Amino acid sequence: MTRNAALAELQNSLHVSHGQVFSYLACGLKYRFQYVERRPPERLSISLPFGKAIHASLERYYLSLQQGITEPLDILEDLFAEQLAGEIQATDVPVIFKKETQDLGSAITMGRNMLKVFHEEVDLGDAEVVAVELPLSATLYSGEARATEYQLVGVIDLLLRDGQGNLIVTDHKTAAQQKSQSAVDDDLQLTAYSYLLTAGGHAPALSNTRCRMDVLRKLKTPKFERYDTIRTARDRRRFAKIAEGALAGIDARIFVPTRGWLCSDCAHRRACEAW
Ligand code: SF4
Repeated sequence: MTRNAALAELQNSLHVSHGQVFSYLACGLKYRFQYVERRPPERLSISLPFGKAIHASLERYYLSLQQGITEPLDILEDLFAEQLAGEIQATDVPVIFKKETQDLGSAITMGRNMLKVFHEEVDLGDAEVVAVELPLSATLYSGEARATEYQLVGVIDLLLRDGQGNLIVTDHKTAAQQKSQSAVDDDLQLTAYSYLLTAGGHAPALSNTRCRMDVLRKLKTPKFERYDTIRTARDRRRFAKIAEGALAGIDARIFVPTRGWLCSDCAHRRACEAW
């Protein structure tokens, strides 16, 4: 099944994306504005289209690699610049630029430099590309292993297989700050991917999942950092309980604001102040 066909099929089922679960956990009020009221954004943080444009270039790189072709750097850079400029020019709301990406020109330079580091340093070792931007869905079970009416859906950035035949779930991130290993070990998105793989029947139900986070750092001299971690059946049960709690909160219409690091980039800040 193609990615588009799989996504179309998912539209017809009662589904929740792991992104929605995380959005609710991060700030219930922001979730309400975005997913319940479907308010148009008041502004756009440059981080969003920037991250999407980097993802598009990495997708192109790994899709080509799957065919045995190493995509030249200039193709990745041009794709990035085109996509970012297109999104910024198409938006009709103010764009929030950042210290390290103060305008479109400096954002494009930053992205090009990040892709250069990626291109120089990426090394899969003995692993091969199994799938790129892989859409998955699986029944969401409760913490007590009861099937709920929900399908959990998500798209894995990159699925690799190592020389011993183990699958490796890989997530791409762009970030200014360095990740700590403990943050990667606790990362719920990777646990959700592990859940989708095992509950969806792509890996044995009780197996451990090898996971990896590839982080491109937004620095004057960008860095490419890789973190390895594991998800167990216990981690997945815990994730199911967390998702169940989030869905119960949404059903009960409990939408509480959580002030924190998300607020500076929040697309609904005025609505939040007026709440
Ligand atoms: S400004 Fe902060 S608290 Fe308010 S909705 Fe946005 S993220 Fe939540």
